[in-house]
Amino acid sequence: MTRLFRNLFHITIVLSAAVGFSQQSSFTVGTATAAPGQKATGFIEVPAGVDAATSIPVVVVRGSKPGPVLALVSGAHGTEYASVVALEKLIPMLDPTQISGTVIILPLVNIQSFLQKVPHVNPVDGKSMNRFYPGKEDGTQTERASFLITKQVVERCDYLIDYHGGDLDENLRSYSYWPKSGNEKQDAITQQMVLAFGLDHIIVWSDRPKDPNASRYLDNTANTRGKPAIAVEAGYSGTVKPEDVKALVEGTLSVMRLFKMLPGAPTSVEHPVWIGKIDTIASDQTGFFYPIVDRGTYVEQGMKVGYVTDYFGNITLEARAPAAGVVLYICGVPSMKKGDTIANIGEVVKNP
Ligand SMILES: [Zn+2]
Repeated sequence: MTRLFRNLFHITIVLSAAVGFSQQSSFTVGTATAAPGQKATGFIEVPAGVDAATSIPVVVVRGSKPGPVLALVSGAHGTEYASVVALEKLIPMLDPTQISGTVIILPLVNIQSFLQKVPHVNPVDGKSMNRFYPGKEDGTQTERASFLITKQVVERCDYLIDYHGGDLDENLRSYSYWPKSGNEKQDAITQQMVLAFGLDHIIVWSDRPKDPNASRYLDNTANTRGKPAIAVEAGYSGTVKPEDVKALVEGTLSVMRLFKMLPGAPTSVEHPVWIGKIDTIASDQTGFFYPIVDRGTYVEQGMKVGYVTDYFGNITLEARAPAAGVVLYICGVPSMKKGDTIANIGEVVKNP
């Protein structure tokens, strides 16, 4: 072949491959392979390393029509039950013959947390499964799992939503995070995503790691790789309230409408409460904690939100709000050790 002919031939192959990929090819994550119009289940197999192997369940919903790839990930903290149950409910609701694009669902990343009822961390290595991204191939189980999720889910998707909530000990009001990166184009998309998701309290989170190799959080791993992503939180203290599950399911469907993966228009929140700063009240005492205010309460600066006693009932700490704002979450159990978080207060801003 002449050089010219060879180049033309090459271009033709590339173009047909691109068309085929968007419309007709199957899509594989882990052991789940779905052809267009199909839904497949399987596992991301995390091989044994310095500690045990694990298998993370994955669902691939491959739409009949072309469209973006949306990743939905829940259960990094396996006892934030409302968020895990929300994605479980979503699995049968998504009909691949009606969807444009592809949905990857990881409903329960941290299986041992869920099974052993251990909050905050993966009991296998004692690490939070939302702090070690982009992960390490030769690290502990959390790091190896994070590495494979980065490779197989984050790098393969166009958009991502990470689901959380109040953990077993967290009495939390639902809210979402808008990651404001400074990249105007990406920030416009993520803002549309949080508004379409519909939770009416939105934290503006601007001081996030910018280095994709030290991204820490899952949504930040996607955002630092140019894939717009948000995190959402609903549910608290081990409960699975229908209204929390509904908010997470409806929010997801609304974001899918925003991206034209489903017919219809998104239902966007019109006047959200924007939170510009979070004040963490930490305990400098060990003992019993007693809350005075509930999640979602609006407090003034200096207002008492709870107190700590020693083991004999003597008050050792009165916890007060450092600024006016909304109680995003407050410790929901009596166990309190020095350094633990008593409450997070969100300061309201007018213009995000
Ligand atoms: Zn969480």
